[in-house]
Amino acid sequence: MEFETVIGLEVHCELKTQSKIFCTCRNKFTAEPNRHCCPVCNGYPGVLPVLNKRAVEYTIMAGLALNCDIAKLSRFDRKHYFYPDLSKSYQTSQLDYPLCKRGRVDITVDGKRKSVRINRIHLEEDAGKLVHSEWGNGTLVDYNRAAVPLIEIVTEPDINSADEAVAFLESIKTILKYTGVSDCKMEEGSLRCDVNLSIRPKGSTGFGVRTEMKNLNSFRAVHRSILYEGKRHAEVLRSGGELVQETRRWDDEQGVSLSMRTKEDAIDYKYFPDPDLMPLVLTDEYIESLRAHIPELPEKRKERYVSEYGLPEYDADVLTSDKAVADFFDSCAKDYDNRKALSNWVMSDVLRKIKESGLGEDEPIPVSPANFVKLLKLYDGKVISQNAARMVLDEIWQNDRDPAEVVEKMGLKQITDEGELLKMVKEIIQSNPGPVADYKAGNKKALAFFVGQIMKATKGKANPQKVNELLVKELES
Ligand SMILES: [Zn+2]
Repeated sequence: MEFETVIGLEVHCELKTQSKIFCTCRNKFTAEPNRHCCPVCNGYPGVLPVLNKRAVEYTIMAGLALNCDIAKLSRFDRKHYFYPDLSKSYQTSQLDYPLCKRGRVDITVDGKRKSVRINRIHLEEDAGKLVHSEWGNGTLVDYNRAAVPLIEIVTEPDINSADEAVAFLESIKTILKYTGVSDCKMEEGSLRCDVNLSIRPKGSTGFGVRTEMKNLNSFRAVHRSILYEGKRHAEVLRSGGELVQETRRWDDEQGVSLSMRTKEDAIDYKYFPDPDLMPLVLTDEYIESLRAHIPELPEKRKERYVSEYGLPEYDADVLTSDKAVADFFDSCAKDYDNRKALSNWVMSDVLRKIKESGLGEDEPIPVSPANFVKLLKLYDGKVISQNAARMVLDEIWQNDRDPAEVVEKMGLKQITDEGELLKMVKEIIQSNPGPVADYKAGNKKALAFFVGQIMKATKGKANPQKVNELLVKELES
């Protein structure tokens, strides 16, 4: 029997606010444990939370960017459970009245486009982090992350493969980063994901028994765990066994999922409305004022790069995947008409420099668009060779200044003066009768020898096209 995989994702994403969700502690990823804590985020008795307005705004912006309806009335609830990383013994979250509902994200896999529906996005707080000590059997707790604002994005079961799941996550990551609400760094834990998976006979519409895999912290882990779990389900069913609805833990090192708890011992969270926080009531004007802050999103931008700049889809895709690169490209394109040439330079040389210099995603590019365009124009005007252009780029990447100055200082100007080049051409021909005879005998390869000699004599600064022209003219005359 052929099976089809049915997947729903729960994506947790930390918001990039200055402070935590209910106190003024800094929201910052820090190596030093328990540096950013206070009685509020440590859950001392009697303290009162004050909701961070920016966290609400960021959640609404995420919702708008992901095509959600924004609820004008939402509410916070307490989700009770005990675990050492949660000193309050309840997590402030949203159960029945989330801030955003009914969204949609479009993905493309193997050239096929599809929509993944979003059921809801709610705002909640993150928990602390357990650190399993290397020097003993103990476990330590770091509360820096406790009460960092977190959104949970819950999809409908619209995803049918590991590739689609990763495409969805990549899309969410790019959109949220574009919107500026999260840096989505999986390695720092600011983007995490749970996978709900079941299988069903191909073509049927019902749902099989579902398992949930918790806290996957890389795209690779998501991909591998889906392939593994789908295969495991199919094997159990094919061998006549029965699947159990359960929560499983993905062990990335061993590449297996392991049972954590079954439905029987599922936790009862005893949710109730948080009495310390007022319901959140929003006006249309307020929501619309936030919509104005949503930038042009990657999908739209990609379309514009194809229609307005005439770029191939591949180029549009590469250039828009990082907002800093796309912003740089747009600024350059204002003063540079050959967009395909610009795209080639950015995709090869700017991306190479970003990689070489270890610049993080979304970090601004150290060369100003104005100086970069000046550099390309020097190359187009044959003032410098392509190699020289790369050398100048290395220089202005370190120290952003007028590339013409760098060309002058480094003596990179191409020799294009016809008189000067002709003199050299004549000398080379005169002192190499052998290759001249070869050329005249029909061995056109001898030309390369002459070009090489002139390049050597000028340390690569002669304009190769001009040199070629002059050589042919002289040799044939
Ligand atoms: Zn605090």
